[in-house]
Amino acid sequence: NADSAMYHAKASGRNNYQFFKEVMNLTAARHFELESSLRGALAANEFELYFQPIMDIGTRRLHAMEVLLRWRRGGTELITPDQFIPIIEENGMIVGIGEWVIRQACRQSMAWQAQGMTPVPLAVNLSPRQFMHRGLVDSVRAILDETGIDPALIEFEITETALMQHGEQTLEILGHINAMGIRLSIDDFGTGYSSLAYLKRFPVKKIKIDRAFIKDLEESAEDRAIVAAIIALSDSLQLSVVAEGVETEGQYALLQRHGCQYAQGYLFSQPVPHVTAQLLLPRS
Ligand code: C2E
Ligand code: MG
Ligand code: MG
Ligand code: MG
Repeated sequence: NADSAMYHAKASGRNNYQFFKEVMNLTAARHFELESSLRGALAANEFELYFQPIMDIGTRRLHAMEVLLRWRRGGTELITPDQFIPIIEENGMIVGIGEWVIRQACRQSMAWQAQGMTPVPLAVNLSPRQFMHRGLVDSVRAILDETGIDPALIEFEITETALMQHGEQTLEILGHINAMGIRLSIDDFGTGYSSLAYLKRFPVKKIKIDRAFIKDLEESAEDRAIVAAIIALSDSLQLSVVAEGVETEGQYALLQRHGCQYAQGYLFSQPVPHVTAQLLLPRS
């Protein structure tokens, strides 16, 4: 990261420090360039939803799909969220773009239903800034009305960090969302500030175990112990559990043995565009 790069650059002398400054300027230039082309991106229709299956471990059947945003910059280059979400989170554009994601996910679900497919729940990510925005509850309510979607077909994924930031206000917003019939899950579980006591207070239905604990599951007894503990905790609080980033049959077998209900990862599918995603949906 920038601080340790700065430390190393300074520690090893002037030339490196000079080099470091150039790298920083490049990064700032890239940031500026992306930020300015992001300004028109929503109006130019450059955002697309991708979908990644979440499988039921017991039956190996499709359980739900996570909605993942992609930016088709200038109509060609495909940019992943790690490159632009931090920018739009910082400048506030996430509020409008995030609202578009929720609306588009609801429309896609309704379109699939109209074409005779059996819908599965779609899980939409909400960033901390979106979550704390005053208009969130009203705009979600308006989208539900406008699209006519069954709220049981929408889930919101929120990270622990987002939940822990603002005590009482958080509870109030979660309460409104829950009352509308939209389910909530905790994303990247185990990586943020965890306060297990909050799991009980918040109307959360699902926990997603971060990929960091799944990656080395086959080699690491510590990771197996952590995952087993998260699954046991979820069971006793009657929450569902999803393992993120499942890439191997070995990981899958271990998760199954530990009683994990759902799994998501490249073992089943990468995130895919809607035309591919719809092939995974059963017909009613
Ligand atoms: P996330 O919500 O934790 O989403 C899971 C990420 O892990 C996705 O990255 C997905 O492509 C990746 N992934 C899934 N399976 C595997 C696997 O087996 N191996 C590996 N190495 N990776 C896997 P993606 O699509 O690049 O999204 C990154 C993050 O950007 C998401 O993490 C989420 O925090 C954020 N994001 C994506 N779409 C949206 C959105 O519409 N709104 C908001 N606010 N954030 C979003
Ligand atoms: Mg997520
Ligand atoms: Mg996640
Ligand atoms: Mg993540």
